[in-house]
Amino acid sequence: MSENYIKIESKSDVENIAPIRICVATFLSSLNIHIDDLMDVKTALSEAVTNAVDHAYDDEEENKIIVEAKIKDNERVIITVKDFGKGIEDISLAMTPMYTTKPENEHAGMGFTIMESFMDEVIVDSAVKNGTTITLTKDIKRTISNKV
Ligand code: ATP
Ligand code: MG
Repeated sequence: MSENYIKIESKSDVENIAPIRICVATFLSSLNIHIDDLMDVKTALSEAVTNAVDHAYDDEEENKIIVEAKIKDNERVIITVKDFGKGIEDISLAMTPMYTTKPENEHAGMGFTIMESFMDEVIVDSAVKNGTTITLTKDIKRTISNKV
């Protein structure tokens, strides 16, 4: 049983979404991960980090995000995105397609739906005033080219 991980601590700032995505993608590329799987993971990760930036904190609060990417047995990717913000009151409502609390800011309410469609498992753990942790899991294929 092998395991490798990286952990990124970041200010919850829109400027940091791309660097987090690139950092995790670079880490995963050591796996010879299939490009399709890599794109799926990057898309789901972006949605989770964007949610932490857009929804977790009101401006004046201290705002931190911790992203951890883990590779298990060279075949499973597990990513957690953790914030310490306001939390989600009703998780199943929040995960309903097209549900958003910010329709005015061009939010479509599709973030969780996208995460669920691109990953094998999406777990939302949240407590009001304490924060939210999203766990995204995917079993991955290797690229064929590296097996030849
Ligand atoms: P879109 O992702 O399409 O831009 P959205 O972010 O509103 O819109 P989802 O990502 O599906 O849609 O999230 C649904 C709702 O869940 C959000 O509107 C918000 O109320 C709540 N939510 C999501 N993530 C968090 C979080 N980290 N902290 C607090 N609330 C959250
Ligand atoms: Mg969203």
